Amino acid sequence: MNYLRRRLSDSTFISNLPNGYMTDLQRPEQAQPPPPASTTPAKSPTAGPTPPATSPAPERKPQTSQSTGAGFFSSITNVVKQTAASAGLVEQTQVTTPKKFKILLVIDEPQQEWAKLFRGKKVHGDYDIKVEQAEFNEINVVAQANGTCNVNMQVLRNGTKVMRSFKPDFVLIRQHAFSMTQNEDFRNLIIGLQYGGVQTINSLESIYNLCDKPWAFAQLINTHRKLGAEKFPLIEQTFYPNYKEMVSMPSFPVVVKIGHAHSGIGKVKVDNHSKFQDIASVVALTQTYTTTEPLIDSKYDIRIQKIGTDYKAYMRTSISGNWKTNTGSAMLEQVAMTDRYKLWVDTCAEIFGGLAICAVKAIHGKDGRDYITEVVGSSMPLVGEHQAEDRQLIADMVLAEMNQSAEKEANTPQRPTTIQPSQGAGQKGEIVGEPTKNGAGRPPQGCLQYILDCNGVAVGPKPVQAN
Ligand code: ATP
Repeated sequence: MNYLRRRLSDSTFISNLPNGYMTDLQRPEQAQPPPPASTTPAKSPTAGPTPPATSPAPERKPQTSQSTGAGFFSSITNVVKQTAASAGLVEQTQVTTPKKFKILLVIDEPQQEWAKLFRGKKVHGDYDIKVEQAEFNEINVVAQANGTCNVNMQVLRNGTKVMRSFKPDFVLIRQHAFSMTQNEDFRNLIIGLQYGGVQTINSLESIYNLCDKPWAFAQLINTHRKLGAEKFPLIEQTFYPNYKEMVSMPSFPVVVKIGHAHSGIGKVKVDNHSKFQDIASVVALTQTYTTTEPLIDSKYDIRIQKIGTDYKAYMRTSISGNWKTNTGSAMLEQVAMTDRYKLWVDTCAEIFGGLAICAVKAIHGKDGRDYITEVVGSSMPLVGEHQAEDRQLIADMVLAEMNQSAEKEANTPQRPTTIQPSQGAGQKGEIVGEPTKNGAGRPPQGCLQYILDCNGVAVGPKPVQAN
């Protein structure tokens, strides 16, 4: 034994050990049996510290063995560990202090990996950022008047269903909150986040207001009045609250835009009176509003985008000849940012209390004139070659905003509260199990919900009541 101690205190001996020898000696002789929960641990789609899944992984602690042989080897292991640690050959285990982090919820499709843009980033000096990413249809929100807001999320990642419950500190919304296509009305979630007082980019107020295109267009009409048609050439548009009013004839050809939808959906080119009546009869079934615009004989579409202080202008020309350049094939080119374009986007960025991220859409006609058609907010799709750069710009803005709100929070005197302490982390619970058909936030019957403390450590299972 003394010989072994002498050999092991010799650092050349340690470094000459075959690969894996040290690791073998450090490996626990016997893993602890997993707790009785039947669910499997799920991989978190997040950055930052990963809280354990529902069935916590067995701790990698060597067990005290009763057998003499095992005792002998564990004695060797300890000597090796101590010696190696003093020789600086292995990392010494630190005593873990509670880790603080802020939760950023990003509402976007999974292909856009936002977590990696926040890896290693800190808020207010010492808070890590834990990114939770989900689509609108994968989350639910419960908010209370005392300012608490819980997001229940159920996502499918690499074939594993992950259910989590947390209080977001900040939300970035990159998907449309409303579209009149099936199941795409998430305004209830926007209301929930607003109710819970969650910080976002853009503001929840602006996101809600942009959920009706004619409502947003009404703001552009004000700008048009202020700046004049020369500086702010807004397209002529007529609003019909429902089909019944679609009797007054526009001059043809017109574009009829039914309700609030994206990607060219609900936009119809109408050449004559009888087709207009046909469309009006279809609108009768939709129970929504309609707008009409003159069909512009278009040379190309223009898009001016603003992300914070970064401006970009693009031109989109149809290749396939479709009158909608966002349908079929089209060519996209970045063009110079002019003062005129800057004025358009800057004035549009002032609506609804300010849009940190926005874009103005216009059509450049063959007559050489421009026609502004729409303003879009933080859910605007990124286009062109600089999408990665744009995504980084958005991430930087989010980080700056998170820092600002953390600073404000730190300077606000805390009042005593009866709410469960979240210590800035907000992580409340995580559930892994089968999803239910009737809602992302509803845990399956008989599933155990584990309450996690602020470090993501399970502190006890809580039976979930059947609904
Ligand atoms: P997206 O979701 O891509 O922004 P959208 O559903 O909001 O699309 P619009 O942008 O209004 O739809 O229209 C789709 C396309 O149709 C435009 O990109 C443009 O090319 C064409 N378009 C729209 N309005 C007119 C018009 N009045 N005259 C000529 N073309 C038009």
